[in-house]
Amino acid sequence: MLQKTIMDIYAGHKEMLALLRELVLIQSGSYNKKGLDRMARTMAGVLEETGLETRVISFEHCGDMVLARTSRAGHEPGLLLVGHMDTVFPADTSFDFYREDGDRVLGPGVLDMKGGLVVGVFALKALARAGILDDLPVTVFCNSEEEIGSLYSRKIIESLCRENRLAFVLEGGGLNSEVVVGRKGKIGLELDVQGRGGHAGNLSAEGKSSAILEAAHKIIQLEALNHPPDILVNVGLVRGGMGANCIPETALLEVDIRYKDPADETRITDRVRDICGYMTVPGTNAGFRQVSGRPPMPASLETERLYSLVEEAAQELELPLARETRGGVSDANFIAAAGLPVLDGLGPLGDCDHSEQEYILKESLPQRCALLALSMLKAFPGLKSQSV
Ligand SMILES: [Zn+2]
Repeated sequence: MLQKTIMDIYAGHKEMLALLRELVLIQSGSYNKKGLDRMARTMAGVLEETGLETRVISFEHCGDMVLARTSRAGHEPGLLLVGHMDTVFPADTSFDFYREDGDRVLGPGVLDMKGGLVVGVFALKALARAGILDDLPVTVFCNSEEEIGSLYSRKIIESLCRENRLAFVLEGGGLNSEVVVGRKGKIGLELDVQGRGGHAGNLSAEGKSSAILEAAHKIIQLEALNHPPDILVNVGLVRGGMGANCIPETALLEVDIRYKDPADETRITDRVRDICGYMTVPGTNAGFRQVSGRPPMPASLETERLYSLVEEAAQELELPLARETRGGVSDANFIAAAGLPVLDGLGPLGDCDHSEQEYILKESLPQRCALLALSMLKAFPGLKSQSV
């Protein structure tokens, strides 16, 4: 039965591309509530067709989200599938087409991660068609603001972690057939420097309290915290002052910090606090606030066990598979921090996400779909022997 199911998946390539086209052509940047609500309705529709109990969760200040479960979900610790429906592209982007070009498919979100949503849907469909899905405790959650920090969905994801015993996240896979076994953590900071304003031509003997000058010292101190590959600090935006003839009264730095070891979070914020507490330019002062962040997803024994399971599935399907640790963050970071074994990057293979060159490899769509379906089955070994 399983063999037939896998054959069905490969035969359903056209259907997969049709759904991918439909999803890609719905503009769904993180702030585009109208588009995201449409995405939620479309996803809810296809998940419902698969036989899942599906509901749209409405939000006022972000796009609606979708929660879908098999009848066994919630009754026993099961498997959580997570994917996001938002993209980084705003409504007025010129990158608003879907194009199949040779062995590639191009379009906004085709890799990050509408392709992954298609993989998820068709893996579920395949298991449903084989009569297996109803026996599996599976929960699917699609959020609408992952690209801007999952501020609203984080709590939902964390509560779903408590009901489940493992998770797969459907972000895109790497071009060398990678799945993601680890991710760095992220801290996003804003650092304010206050000085004393005045006319640049009226400088007193005691000197001036330039916020920009103090910010310049702080930039050098912050950048000195870089310790690649474990700690990466980037002062990525600087704002301050009013004009060349004004002593700058304020300066703002936006800082992005990536780190591997969960213990580094406190070490790093302590160092930033020290930097803010010590002024080189007299008469200035500084403070910082954390504006975003995700804990790291460290490579762990549980992740390795989950990887072995997916690797076994890949071998049976004669597909290559490799491990990847990524610098970028995803909802897998929250899931790992909640203590659930999680593997990410199970979506189709591709590259150039977050750019107008974003693409996936067409043939990886059914391949990853078969891999996910078989891996899901392998996650419930007792059941596999009865049903297949
Ligand atoms: Zn993504």
